[in-house]
Amino acid sequence: MGSTGKSKKRLSTARELTRVVTDYYLECHRARAEGRPVGWMPPMNGGIEIFYAMDLQPVFPENWSPVCAAFSLAPGHFEISEGMGYSRDLCGYLRNIVGYVHSDMNGPGVPLGGLPEPDMLMSFGGGCVPAMKIFQILESRFPRAKVFRADVPQVACEDIREHHVDYAVSEIHRLIEFLERTTGRKLDQERLHRTVELSDAACRLWDEIMSLRRCRPAPISASEIGIMFVMVTRQGTQTAVDFLTRVRDEVAERAEQGIGVIEDELVRLFWDNIPLWYNMGLFNEFEGLGGVVVAETYSAAWSLRLDASDPVRALALKSLMSYSLVSCLSIERRKEMVLKACRDYGIDGAVFHRNKSCVPITLGQDEIIRALDEELGIPSVTIDADHMDSRNFSHAQFKARTDAFMEMLLARKNG
Ligand code: SF4
Repeated sequence: MGSTGKSKKRLSTARELTRVVTDYYLECHRARAEGRPVGWMPPMNGGIEIFYAMDLQPVFPENWSPVCAAFSLAPGHFEISEGMGYSRDLCGYLRNIVGYVHSDMNGPGVPLGGLPEPDMLMSFGGGCVPAMKIFQILESRFPRAKVFRADVPQVACEDIREHHVDYAVSEIHRLIEFLERTTGRKLDQERLHRTVELSDAACRLWDEIMSLRRCRPAPISASEIGIMFVMVTRQGTQTAVDFLTRVRDEVAERAEQGIGVIEDELVRLFWDNIPLWYNMGLFNEFEGLGGVVVAETYSAAWSLRLDASDPVRALALKSLMSYSLVSCLSIERRKEMVLKACRDYGIDGAVFHRNKSCVPITLGQDEIIRALDEELGIPSVTIDADHMDSRNFSHAQFKARTDAFMEMLLARKNG
């Protein structure tokens, strides 16, 4: 069993995140109270910008899962979904959401008031199979919600061609028509243009923040990665741009003044796969031994640019690429990305989270571990765990493996 631990934050702006998260969920509930239509959608597609441009409220059930894990609600949700017959091997996000929507969703004790029920359900198609299945299940749970199913193809990033983008463009137009017809609101093209500009600005800031982690000592570690909340829920808003600007400024100032995560950074680490949302404190455990997690695979999802001169095309491309950058890559491309990150960030050792309930991101890890060793001489350690289900994590095993790994890395450093 795994213990639950919160990560230690160094950024004062990252501490503001609690307010940003609370404000977002308050806004979701306000939308429901004011009669502003609420639509549930998967993260990382162009729907979010269209929603904000039309004053509709996007809600992300997948993103709600880390909140449930952090508040220790996930085990109860797993009990419900497993009782309904969903296998323990399925994606933790899926099992958590199934359990959540079949529980007392907004009952007493549910943090942040829970999620407001959906008026609309948007299934995009471009993500992995569990991401799509979640919406099929939600359709049965909320039969009154109007459903939009996009048919955005699932294409590996490197295989995306013009005809895929053309098709995704037609799907975005179909989404706009659906929203206009269902809500009676008209999409203002000027507003969409501005929203895509803001979305692009957020991606640019995101890249700047991530690049600053190349500095030695690293000004922030993976324990601050919760800042991605704004990329998931607030893309296309001034709120996201303002927040990320403050984070970027603080990180840049720390980098300029040589303020590291720890006083004596001895070893720089890379983390592969999704963090353990119920135990983010694990990232801090390396720090006691002089290790800092300075880069990870998961943050790549927002490393893209949106050309606001053609907003619909930019959103179509985003819908094809965003999810793919994390979960629909070929092993070859994933290997290239990990090797590049390890070179760019001066990595000494890599930690591979073998995630029991996320096959798409775990597949091919052995090949990447081999390539890191053979091509860059970077050693790795594998941790068996799960991004959502603490029953699949043993803290004792984690400690035993990472302590031995850190000892070996330090011995190498010392020649
Ligand atoms: S990529 Fe992994 S964690 Fe994300 S929805 Fe798919 S299976 Fe679940």
